[in-house]
Amino acid sequence: MTELPRVGLGLDVHPVEAGRECWLAGLSWPGADGCAGHSDGDVVAHALTDAVLSGAGLGDIGGLLGTDDPRWAGARGVAVLQHARDTLAAAGWRVGNAVVQLVAPTPKLGPRRAEAEAALSAALGAPVSVTATTTDGLGLVGRGEGRAAVATALVVRAGSVDSPR
Ligand code: MG
Repeated sequence: MTELPRVGLGLDVHPVEAGRECWLAGLSWPGADGCAGHSDGDVVAHALTDAVLSGAGLGDIGGLLGTDDPRWAGARGVAVLQHARDTLAAAGWRVGNAVVQLVAPTPKLGPRRAEAEAALSAALGAPVSVTATTTDGLGLVGRGEGRAAVATALVVRAGSVDSPR
């Protein structure tokens, strides 16, 4: 019997930290302030990580990495994604595709969308689409206090004949 693909959902929010190196969507953004966090603060990569883990029923990023494990201090978002991909593979799952939306007025993702999608797709081993929006000046994002990202993913059994790719 064919097993249906499973959806996953992820959300992440980090505060902006003036002067911190900015890593977002797997890319470095010179000239932009980064986000605070135990790792590199890449909300896009972290939302994606939660989406793929939840789709496979494997918990969330806090359970995957721990919240203060020194091995993940400053870790790049793509390294976290690769770890999630390996965790899925060990449990017999893989990602079909994933979509993530950044919620932040800066940095402007559009000019580097293809670069971001390539970096995230390589890390997950599946197509990742990246979009961005703002809150029209409202709330913590609008005030520049933080950035958010929301993601969904389809997760399929590894080796399933009707898998998306
Ligand atoms: Mg995070």
